[in-house]
Amino acid sequence: MNVLVLNCGSSTVKFQLIATDLESIAQNADRRLARGAVERIGGEAIITLHAEGREALKSTAPVRDARAAVDLIIRWACSENSGIAEVRSVADVHAIGHRVVHGGERFTHSVLITDEVVRGIEDCIDLAPLHNPANLKGITAAREVFGVGIPEVAVFDTAFHQTLPDYAYLYGLPYQYYRRHRIRRYGFHGTSHRYIAYRYRQLRNIARGETNVITLHLGNGCSAALIRGGDSVDTSMGLTPLEGLMMGTRSGDIDPAIVDFIAAKEGLTAQEVETLLNKQSGLIGISGLTNDMRELLDEARENDDRRARLAIEIFCYRIRKYIGSYLAAMGGADALIFAGGIGENSAEVRERICEGLQWFGLEIDAERNALQTGGREGLISRDGSRLAAYVIPTDEELLIARDTVRCVRGAPQRF
Ligand code: ADP
Repeated sequence: MNVLVLNCGSSTVKFQLIATDLESIAQNADRRLARGAVERIGGEAIITLHAEGREALKSTAPVRDARAAVDLIIRWACSENSGIAEVRSVADVHAIGHRVVHGGERFTHSVLITDEVVRGIEDCIDLAPLHNPANLKGITAAREVFGVGIPEVAVFDTAFHQTLPDYAYLYGLPYQYYRRHRIRRYGFHGTSHRYIAYRYRQLRNIARGETNVITLHLGNGCSAALIRGGDSVDTSMGLTPLEGLMMGTRSGDIDPAIVDFIAAKEGLTAQEVETLLNKQSGLIGISGLTNDMRELLDEARENDDRRARLAIEIFCYRIRKYIGSYLAAMGGADALIFAGGIGENSAEVRERICEGLQWFGLEIDAERNALQTGGREGLISRDGSRLAAYVIPTDEELLIARDTVRCVRGAPQRF
């Protein structure tokens, strides 16, 4: 089955084409046919189209909306030019898997999209006002391009964290706000944390129920998850992705009274302060330079820039504090697992996060750590380290494609 995986944001459509089916899943023999993105939709878009085993094609062209972007992607995939032998016409795409950010409490697993599911995703718009409308546009766009007959599946970022116990997902707020407005911790990056935990148990050859780890998704957005017996039992992002670790442009945890304080001092509305916390804080806010960790590491190394160093230090310190609290909450764990652009590529950041965790029995192997960059997967702690550490490059698209196949084939879902 050829599955088109779509990740539709407000001005971006990212995609992958993956050939998979129940048998390929069982044998780990899924095949990636193509990937790419259409960015800056609404104006002169930047288009990247990359068929497996070929050079990536980069171009620009005016792209009006998500529908035009999906149309462009599929026209390219079907063209001789793309070199994708498996896809010669629209009919060769058999199903579509959509990344949907917020599924609220309703969606605990991936689902085939029906009118009722669309209404359910609409009901979650107030919880994710920036993301869910863009995801819905992607669903409509795909229907328009492929016709209503094509099965579409929604895979939710929040679903994996629906196993959190109530004492972990409730805030210390008056309980009626949870009842009335569903204010609680939902967590995000769920498909990523789920993939990392799945891959870990494959590497270790252990059962799902034996998976007791802390997963760290460190990209532009960052989150940690505590996984016990294969289930997510705590995670750092909350009602929105703003809570938890410090990120590229997000503050992460702050004293909530700061919102009002900044609003009064700077003459801003609450909405403006929220934007500031989401877009101008974190690494970029502290350094005053960039939200890009690679650039900060260069600045710190080459120019000994004080605020670049400080931003990196706060970033690592916050993560270490979360690891410590999760180890306490679970009474220890078997492994820490790093993923995301920073987690997968920066041996230096990983080493700095792990400094001081020797107390918990973590012994990083400097040589192994240095080797794990650029998408490589493997152990970075010493043999016999009581708390192990791994790098596992995440692959959300693969899980989205697999969930899509399982939903379409009516097979049980494996979370
Ligand atoms: P997103 O969350 O947008 O998917 P990524 O997972 O690609 O982002 O992560 C982006 C982050 O990863 C950026 O801060 C980038 O600087 C960082 N990164 C990528 N490669 C490296 C590297 N070699 N060293 C340090 N940081 C890196």
